[in-house]
Amino acid sequence: MVRILPPALSLQSFAPPIGTTSFGPDRADLAVRAGRPVTFALAGGACPPLAIDPDGAAPYLSNMATLPIITLPNPLLRKRSADVERIDAELGKLADDMLETMYAAPGVGLAAVQVGVPRRLIVIDTAKEDDPPAPLILVNPEIVTLGPDLRLHEEGCLSIPDERFEIERPARLTVRYLDRNGKLQELAAEGLLATVIQHEIDHLNGKLIIDYLSRLKRDIIIRRFKKLAKTGAGA
Ligand SMILES: [Zn+2]
Repeated sequence: MVRILPPALSLQSFAPPIGTTSFGPDRADLAVRAGRPVTFALAGGACPPLAIDPDGAAPYLSNMATLPIITLPNPLLRKRSADVERIDAELGKLADDMLETMYAAPGVGLAAVQVGVPRRLIVIDTAKEDDPPAPLILVNPEIVTLGPDLRLHEEGCLSIPDERFEIERPARLTVRYLDRNGKLQELAAEGLLATVIQHEIDHLNGKLIIDYLSRLKRDIIIRRFKKLAKTGAGA
């Protein structure tokens, strides 16, 4: 298995909830380092077909990069992401960059649309700080079953910095997805992992955590971010 060592894992020392907001210096640094466009084409691109050896170190691992994360009110966040049609080296590179971006933020989940690529791809790592990293890459994920019990969690979102909301979601689920090798997988998840999977799949459907709030509260948040975007503070 390809083992990905996040460079900024120590930042996760407080086991952040989903999409913990990033901090000033890291965020600024992230924007500077991420000064390259995402040239991601899913079909008909010039990329060679999938050639990822799960037992060997892929060359791109030494060249991972953090990507800029889009925030409210960017309309892309409201778009339904399209299916990934081809799992190739370029998709693997995007997933690795997303993982690095997520670790650096720090956060525990990230959807491709949050880095400006509206495709059905999410990355997750809910490992505790003392445990080894456990990156998950889910392509075209679909929830198969949701359990009856609910779980309350204070969720944040990297695309809605500095805000957190208590949200209740099913505590258990099974999800079917393609892994980075294009192999169909089914995963039973509970607790934080189940929450994160639902949060990230919401992103693929253009749904955000503010949609779980009352209309009044949601409008207040949206207005705040529109104002921030205008003044440049939220860019
Ligand atoms: Zn989010």
